[in-house]
Amino acid sequence: MARRVWGLSKKKANYKPAPEPGVRCDQCTYMFPPVALGGCRLVRGLIQASATCDEFRRRPRS
Ligand code: SF4
Repeated sequence: MARRVWGLSKKKANYKPAPEPGVRCDQCTYMFPPVALGGCRLVRGLIQASATCDEFRRRPRS
């Protein structure tokens, strides 16, 4: 079953600055749009491209 959209707070998701480029939100399948400041399908609120969280999942290459 799909996860609930916006079901997580930043605190619960352990949202924080990304320690390395490969795990940035703009590399994550859940960020939309993947621009400097956007949204996330799982975590509520404004999401920075340079952040990350425990739910990170790499965006498939297109
Ligand atoms: S790393 Fe976390 S906050 Fe960032 S886009 Fe992915 S799921 Fe959302």
